[in-house]
Amino acid sequence: MTKPFRFECTGCGNCCRGRGEVYFTEQDLSNVEKLLKLKPAEKPAFRRKMVQTKRNGLLVHLTNGRCALLGNDNRCSVYEARPIQCRTYPFWAGFFENEDDMDFLKNECEGVGRKNGQVYSALAVKRRTNKTERDFRALQTGKEPFSL
Ligand code: SF4
Ligand code: SF4
Repeated sequence: MTKPFRFECTGCGNCCRGRGEVYFTEQDLSNVEKLLKLKPAEKPAFRRKMVQTKRNGLLVHLTNGRCALLGNDNRCSVYEARPIQCRTYPFWAGFFENEDDMDFLKNECEGVGRKNGQVYSALAVKRRTNKTERDFRALQTGKEPFSL
């Protein structure tokens, strides 16, 4: 059973560091390129930097230490165009269904349990994590019906 959850993002950037995977759709990457105002000649090198593999129809950025889009100020350099994975963090079902995963999240994200953070009821958490799952599944089938 999901418990109420207190959370406030501090902007520490820790969730964008470490070894991991960031999933993008073609549309996400194209939005990022647009935001960065990349010229056509700059796009191939940018793609090589961003996409290391593909999985379930999505483009995967394998981070080795930090996401390539994390700025030196520890802020996402493409915040307005960040992909669904980043927009929905930490409302991923696994964190709330598995104690070890929740411990990992608490260790990674200083916004969890923050004193003045917003309190999400068990129902609110469930709704958000369900929506994350639905939207992610839709991306994998190429439908991209989610709203921002
Ligand atoms: S795209 Fe932005 S928010 Fe997502 S992991 Fe990279 S730096 Fe972080
Ligand atoms: S680790 Fe948590 S507090 Fe830090 S930027 Fe990510 S979501 Fe925000």
